[in-house]
Amino acid sequence: MTSAHPATSARGKTVVVDVVIVGAGLIGLATAWELRRRGRKVAVIDPAPGQGASRAAAGMLAPISEVQYQQNFLNPLMSASAAEYPRFAAAVEQACGESVGYRATETLVCGVDQADRQALTDLSRLQQSYGMAVASMALSEARILEPALSPRLSSVFRIPTDHQVDPRRLVSGLLTALAGRRTTGTFPDGGPAHVLRGQAKALRWNGSGAVAGIELADGQSVLATETILAPGLGVAGLEGLPDTCRMPLRPVHGDILRARIPPGTPHLIERTVRGLVHGLPVYLVPRADGTVVIGATSREDNQAGPSAGGVFRLLRDAQALVPGVAELELTETMARARPGTPDDAPYLGRIRSVSGEPVAGLVISTGYFRHGVLLAPLAARLASQLVTGQVGADPAADAAHLSTTDPHRFPVLAIGRHGVSSQASTLKNAKN
Ligand SMILES: Cc1cc2nc3c(=O)[nH]c(=O)nc-3n(C[C@H](O)[C@H](O)[C@H](O)COP(=O)(O)OP(=O)(O)OC[C@H]3O[C@@H](n4cnc5c(N)ncnc54)[C@H](O)[C@@H]3O)c2cc1C
Repeated sequence: MTSAHPATSARGKTVVVDVVIVGAGLIGLATAWELRRRGRKVAVIDPAPGQGASRAAAGMLAPISEVQYQQNFLNPLMSASAAEYPRFAAAVEQACGESVGYRATETLVCGVDQADRQALTDLSRLQQSYGMAVASMALSEARILEPALSPRLSSVFRIPTDHQVDPRRLVSGLLTALAGRRTTGTFPDGGPAHVLRGQAKALRWNGSGAVAGIELADGQSVLATETILAPGLGVAGLEGLPDTCRMPLRPVHGDILRARIPPGTPHLIERTVRGLVHGLPVYLVPRADGTVVIGATSREDNQAGPSAGGVFRLLRDAQALVPGVAELELTETMARARPGTPDDAPYLGRIRSVSGEPVAGLVISTGYFRHGVLLAPLAARLASQLVTGQVGADPAADAAHLSTTDPHRFPVLAIGRHGVSSQASTLKNAKN
């Protein structure tokens, strides 16, 4: 692909770039940055960059503790992206001159009652069967590492390689790197990216059936050879999409709290502490400054704001694992919707038409559900490779990832007289 120079028309209404990305959440921003590193001129469109699901995320990079039954197809994606994180985080930090809060601290998974212990033991066997490093430890040993753990836990499992990043710092670092405010010469010729604060309204098509960019709600246009849709749940609001783009995507709300230690007191915990409290999940993720992020609710009730019951449950269950939570100052409660797919794997790939032919110039990257922070480096690299034609160090592994994330693996949603309705979400290729 040739690199057109960004140009703004006399009326300031048209921007021309190589790649336009709809959505400046972590997925869109990381993808834009990866493309910029590869010398592409990029524009990212978003009315509120970084304020979607990425704003709420706890930032756990947890390919092992996030293992679910019947979802082994997700494991290669999660472990590949986790392996890319140290270099990804270091490169963003080098480009922006700020910490992104990447911490290679470990994770302790705890249970409260005997049923929790059994469930975690069973899960640890599944994780071990995949060759993952997870080991049961005595509560007395765990309390030497983390003295704030409750003395009443039934079980503790140690996962040394499940780490964390601070998604808000990562968003801020990527925006700085994209704007070129502080670069260290890592960008060959892409120049600063355009971060346009606006709402993408519709796809633009050229006369030969290729996507030619995006029209914004304010009348501006961004013309590009390649368009990447990374608007999280916002895909449904875009006009002019091929019908094959109406894949099933649903909001799964999560309540999340932020709390801080009183000034002058030591950090409550140093490791991520998560687990089951009478069967319900909860996690506590400690930032370097002592802030603790508490979450784990999953609601499909369409209530956008924090749920009173959810906040109550999080505080109650977090205290069951770490009683000292009661002494923290609660600084924030918020909720955001995760973009959920029927099998929890994202949609990442070239859009195809009804006849199965690729639609020229159109890639989708959404549906990251509960793993979007973890999957950001891999998602950014794969989307960049799709639009540049470059290949990674392990093309066979990348092809397998893209097969898992095939955006057309489910039947599309029907668009009827009463708007979009859901058809049966049967898997095209059964996952085991
Ligand atoms: C409570 C909670 C905790 C989580 N914890 C973790 C975790 O610990 N680890 C993990 O890996 N993941 C976690 N996740 C999941 C993770 O946050 C998401 O998977 C990830 O943020 C998705 O990123 P995204 O860029 O696709 O979406 P978003 O961050 O939602 O970004 C999409 C962006 O698109 C924009 N947009 C939408 N429509 C348009 C339009 N028409 N024009 C322009 N822009 C548009 C929006 O404004 C938004 O900024 C958590 C999620 C929640 C809700």
